[in-house]
Amino acid sequence: MTNATAKIASIPGDGIGPDVTDAAFAVMDAARIKIGGFAIEVDHIDAGAAYFEKTKLDIEPGGEERAGKADAILLGAIGLPSVRHDDGTEISPHLRLRDRYGLYAGVRPVKAYPNAPQRLSDPRAATLDLVILRESTEGLFFTAAANGGGELIGDNEARDTMRITRKTTEKLHDFAFKLAQKRKARGGKGHVTCVDKANVFVSMAFFRKIFDERRSAFTDIDHGYNYVDAMALDLVRKPWEFDVLVMENMFGDILSDLAGGLVGGMGMASCGEIGDNHGLFQGAHGSAPDIMGQDKANPLAAILSGALMLDYLSEKLSVPQMAEASQAIHNAVDDGFRDNRLRPMEFGGDMGTLAITNEITTILSE
Ligand code: ATP
Repeated sequence: MTNATAKIASIPGDGIGPDVTDAAFAVMDAARIKIGGFAIEVDHIDAGAAYFEKTKLDIEPGGEERAGKADAILLGAIGLPSVRHDDGTEISPHLRLRDRYGLYAGVRPVKAYPNAPQRLSDPRAATLDLVILRESTEGLFFTAAANGGGELIGDNEARDTMRITRKTTEKLHDFAFKLAQKRKARGGKGHVTCVDKANVFVSMAFFRKIFDERRSAFTDIDHGYNYVDAMALDLVRKPWEFDVLVMENMFGDILSDLAGGLVGGMGMASCGEIGDNHGLFQGAHGSAPDIMGQDKANPLAAILSGALMLDYLSEKLSVPQMAEASQAIHNAVDDGFRDNRLRPMEFGGDMGTLAITNEITTILSE
């Protein structure tokens, strides 16, 4: 039996972040005990708005380097609207981690669970299971404030730039096709849709050109194209037909919130940000200061992000048991909803953060 150890950098952060991070670790531990064959070692890193208030630093000294040395990073949530830099921007050390470690592939699974809210009345919505792959280091966010900002011409005009590089886009499309292959091996549709606006923008035509170049290496995977506006329509009209959707940064930002809304809300939205050598995992929600400290947060986004992380680690460290533990978590969430044992307050149920966490660990131990 393997005695592999996964070294995780844990950055709980602000607001509901610490609570949902605790939940993710508790569930990963229950899955680890169930499956066996590996250990988890945690390196706790202080960062975020509350830490900044105390120290004037947004992450502890050496924290960024330590995060990079871990096998993966698990982040709770960062930022509080009440704590800002002098220029008015919020505390966001995690965005530096994204740039520093080249976390270009933003993986955002969107899956319908039984008894969880479904916004679409068509019964086929119950089979919704897709992934939005959002490029996360360039695109229309290239000139976001973290990269020096866009261009302001006097007080009369402002410009932002859409940056699409061959290097990142090749890796992104390859990631999309490999993800579709992996999902196909587990019963998925084996399909990638290139979402763009290639009929209008030269940057988007280039994005699609590279998609076409790369797809020839993945003949077992079907492909299609959708302009981003038509994709928004189809995500409401027939989202169950899609599998992996690959797109630039801003389109992914918008469509992943739309898609997340179809299957519940932010408390269900897990996320992985993956580069060539590093992976950071976190719920796609923020620190939710309106419900912090009240045991009301839905920890499932963090718990499912933990499952994504175990799957990533399984491949990175060549430890199959980690993928089995990941699958066990997915099954526990699925079973929990099916048997009406998971009733998050976020959806009007009676279960807060601790109750949901305890129920999933119980299911894993049965
Ligand atoms: P950010 O810009 O950092 O993503 P935000 O203010 O846009 O933050 P959130 O902090 O995610 O968004 O909060 C948006 C709303 O969703 C809030 O009303 C919050 O209470 C709710 N929310 C977010 N996460 C959860 C969760 N895990 N469980 C329950 N409700 C949540």
